[in-house]
Amino acid sequence: MTQVEEVPVQTQKYDSVKADTIEVGNITRSKAEWKQLLSSEEYHILREAGTEPAFRNAYYNNKKEGIYYCGGCSLPLYSSNTKFDSGTGWPSFYAPIDPKLVKRKVDRRYGMERVEVVCAQCGSHLGHIFPYEGVPTEERHCLNSLALDFKQMDI
Ligand SMILES: [Zn+2]
Repeated sequence: MTQVEEVPVQTQKYDSVKADTIEVGNITRSKAEWKQLLSSEEYHILREAGTEPAFRNAYYNNKKEGIYYCGGCSLPLYSSNTKFDSGTGWPSFYAPIDPKLVKRKVDRRYGMERVEVVCAQCGSHLGHIFPYEGVPTEERHCLNSLALDFKQMDI
């Protein structure tokens, strides 16, 4: 009998984004450095806590399997495993890959009290967290597509 050699599947592995292998550093950049790194639209979202229009963004309806990375520092933040269709027109997740990857801040702008979610490594604004019934964590991380970079992969 011929020996069949096992060939490892050459897809990017979920291992590479497993929570315990992800190191969260501390990235600080000057305003000028951020402006050089990001498009003006990305800068507005990530560094000025802007919000992109509903239904007119890259990922709200993205059903592909993969990982969503921070648009500011490429830290892996969310996976398609926790993405769900909220009908709101923004990409919605019920949890990040690991709680350590994002930070929550109270946002009192516009006369409301909302929970803002930012990248734990570079402090960039990602979106807001709202209560949401019917998902395991009972919360919805409502994110801006422009704050994320999606990479399709088997997870
Ligand atoms: Zn980041």
